Amino acid sequence: MKEITSAEFDSEVLGGGKVVLDFYSTECPPCEAVAPKFEGLAALYGNDVKFIKMFRQQNKPLAEKLGVRSSPTLLFFDNGVQTGSVLTGGIKRSDIIHELDSLLTKERVLEIKKDIKATVSDFDVVILGAGPGGLTAGLYLCQAKVNTVLVDIALPGGQVSTTHEVSNYPGFIDPQPGYMLSHNMSEQTKLCGTVYKVAVDVTKIDLEKREIIVDEFETIRAKKIIIATGTSPNLMGIPGEKEFKGKGISYCATCDAKYYDNKEVVVIGGGNSAVEEADFISRFASKITMVHQFDALTANKQAQDKLFANPKISVLFAHEPRSFVREGDKMVTEVEDLKTGNRTKLVADGVFVFIGMKPNIDLFRDKLNLDNWNYIKTDEDMHTSLPGVYAVGDVISKKYRQITTAVADGTIAAIAIAKELN
Ligand SMILES: Cc1cc2nc3c(=O)[nH]c(=O)nc-3n(C[C@H](O)[C@H](O)[C@H](O)COP(=O)(O)OP(=O)(O)OC[C@H]3O[C@@H](n4cnc5c(N)ncnc54)[C@H](O)[C@@H]3O)c2cc1C
Repeated sequence: MKEITSAEFDSEVLGGGKVVLDFYSTECPPCEAVAPKFEGLAALYGNDVKFIKMFRQQNKPLAEKLGVRSSPTLLFFDNGVQTGSVLTGGIKRSDIIHELDSLLTKERVLEIKKDIKATVSDFDVVILGAGPGGLTAGLYLCQAKVNTVLVDIALPGGQVSTTHEVSNYPGFIDPQPGYMLSHNMSEQTKLCGTVYKVAVDVTKIDLEKREIIVDEFETIRAKKIIIATGTSPNLMGIPGEKEFKGKGISYCATCDAKYYDNKEVVVIGGGNSAVEEADFISRFASKITMVHQFDALTANKQAQDKLFANPKISVLFAHEPRSFVREGDKMVTEVEDLKTGNRTKLVADGVFVFIGMKPNIDLFRDKLNLDNWNYIKTDEDMHTSLPGVYAVGDVISKKYRQITTAVADGTIAAIAIAKELN
C-alpha cells in the first residue's frame, strides 16, 4: 500500500494497471472503519491491484475534479480508466471485494480467495449493534475493564445519527443534531478502549456458543453477548413500494428531505416520528400532505400543536395508501377514504413513510423468547431466555422506545455483566 499526492496521480494511478484509490480524511470515523479493511485486502489482492491512499484535505483540487465529495471515497481504475462503482460512507469489506473481483479474471479471484485465512478472536463481551443502547453498554463495560467488542453492520450511532434534532436528551439545553449526539456517544466509548468492528457483514450468529462470524472469515467468541440491534422502519407492503424505495419513496427525512427543496411531498403516518419528521421536511418542501389512517394524530400534543401551526402541512385523516406509481417525475399515491371507500390520487414529487418500526432479529428469531410483536423478552437485568445472552434498547419488549430508555438498558446490562464476570 502506498500513499501519494496529486502530483503522482498521473504516474501512479493513470499510468496503467489495476488501482484502488482511497481518499481519506483525518477525524473521520468512517475512514477509520475502512482503513483496516483496505489494509487487509491489500495483503490479499496486492499482487494484482495497486492499493493507493490520498489525503483528501491536502489534495482538494484533484479530489473535486474526480467528483470526490466525502471521505472516505474509494475509486477503482483499470489501465488509466475509472471503472466500477464509487464507494463512500460506511464501506463494507464485501463491497470492496466485489469491485476488486470485477477487475480480475474468475480464475485469479478463485486463487486469491484460497489464501483467505479464517481468524478467531476472543472477548469477554460482544455487543451486536452500536446505537445508543450498545454504545452505552460498551462504555460501562470498558470502564469496568471488561474486554469488549462492538459489532455493527453500519457505522456507529444507530437511529440517532439520522435523526435531525434531539431535544429531549438530558444534559443539553439546546436541541442537538442527532449525528452530533451519536458521534459524541461513539467517540466516548471508542476513546475508552472498546474495540470497534463496524460496517461489517454479520454472516452468522450462534447464540448458544456465543460466536459471531463477520465478513465470512472472522469468528468472534465471547463469554457474553448483548443484542442491541434496534429496529427498522416498517414497510407499507403495497404495490409500487419495493420498486420505488429509494427512488421517490424514503424512510429517512434527515437523509432525503434536502432533495425536496420547493417541492411537494406526501408523508404517511401520524405518530411522533411522522409528525416531527414532517415538520423537518417543511424546511425544504413547499407543500406536505400527511396521510393518516385514524381520525386524530397519535403524536404528542406539543408535536401536534407545532404541526397544525405549520401552513405548509395539511392532514388527510382516515385515509390509507393503496399503491404507488411513477408518472414522469412525479410520485402518485393512490389513497382510500376508509369511511367511504372512495379512492383518490395524490400527485407529489416524493413520498416519506413513517409507520412504525420492527425489531431487527432476523439472524436469531428462533432462539429467543419473543413477545407477540417479535420483540425480545428480557428480565430486569436484561437477560434473555438464553444464558449469557442479554438484549437492550429498542429491540426488547417494552412500552417506551427512546434514546434515554436504550441508554438505561445498556447501563443495566453492562453493570449486571461486569458483576457476573467478577
Ligand atoms: C425518525 C426518528 C426520530 C427519533 N427521535 C427521537 C428523539 O427525538 N428522542 C429520543 O429519545 N428518541 C428518538 N427516536 C428513538 C431513538 O432513536 C431510539 O429509541 C434509539 O436509537 C434506540 O437505540 P438502540 O441502540 O436500541 O437502537 P438503534 O439506534 O436502532 O441502533 C441499532 C444498531 O444496531 C445495528 N444493527 C442492526 N442489525 C444488526 C445486526 N444484525 N448486527 C449488528 N448490528 C446490527 C444498526 O446498524 C444500528 O446501528 C427516534 C427514532 C426515529 C426513527
